[in-house]
Amino acid sequence: MLNAKLATQSHPNHHTIVQLSQQVAFGATELVIIGGPCTIESLSQMEIVATKLDTAPVQMLRGGAYKPRTSPHSFQGLGVEGLEILSAIRQRHQIPVVTEVMSVAQIESVCAHADMLQVGSRNMQNFDLLKALGKVNKPVLLKRGLSATIEEFIMAAEYILSYGNSQVVLCERGIRSFDTYTRNVLDLGAVVALKQLTHLPVIVDPSHATGKRELVAPLAKAAVASGADGLIIECHPEPEKSVSDARQALSLEDMVSLAHGLQPVAAAVGRRIAPYLHRSILDRRARSQ
Ligand code: PEP
Ligand code: MN
Repeated sequence: MLNAKLATQSHPNHHTIVQLSQQVAFGATELVIIGGPCTIESLSQMEIVATKLDTAPVQMLRGGAYKPRTSPHSFQGLGVEGLEILSAIRQRHQIPVVTEVMSVAQIESVCAHADMLQVGSRNMQNFDLLKALGKVNKPVLLKRGLSATIEEFIMAAEYILSYGNSQVVLCERGIRSFDTYTRNVLDLGAVVALKQLTHLPVIVDPSHATGKRELVAPLAKAAVASGADGLIIECHPEPEKSVSDARQALSLEDMVSLAHGLQPVAAAVGRRIAPYLHRSILDRRARSQ
């Protein structure tokens, strides 16, 4: 493995735990399920998502404010307005949030509004961005590049770690192959290898890996069975109307039932789905009103 020093496993029992909040941590016995739309479209959209996911064992919300789109003519995200929507929802629902940061210039404002900074596939080898994120005191969700080898992926994490930030979570999100039936090919072998080679938590994104909503739940279960520490899944109040990635978005009902359906798979591999602790905060608040 090239010359990775910080990301690689120095001791087979050493696993880094990346703490997001008092209740939410990646890499412990409890899995972290992240749900939400590809793109933040409006406050009401995010409020509907958060309210529905409050009823499920989903511990974090996702939503993009800065979107790396293949075409410059496609919607590029709400930008700062999207970040403000995300932080309003985060406050109201007492739930940690993750969102993508595409450039060094965006780091400060994304840090001000999110609990975790996502590096998208297209930026996995944006070394200036990785170096800058190494100096940030927030966890980073590093997605695997579209065609990145396992070694390149680990070396990208190594950049962040070597600039001082030890809070890195890896995300397998599918890689390019010859078959166009699925958007990408979910590399569960990489999940197992990354868990063996590194001490970092590894989560799986079955939404971008497949590009088709009917494939998301079975592969989410397979990911948990293969030892993933969590999942990031796209869902939307009206999936067909999603401004981006509509074809892979789950309905909120399907997202809730998937989160519940993961419990027995998690139990079979000695893991648990974290209880929805943010709910207890809401319940306490409701009782005191
Ligand atoms: C996303 O999470 O919406 C996204 C753009 O993912 P990726 O970088 O894996 O394509
Ligand atoms: Mn997406």
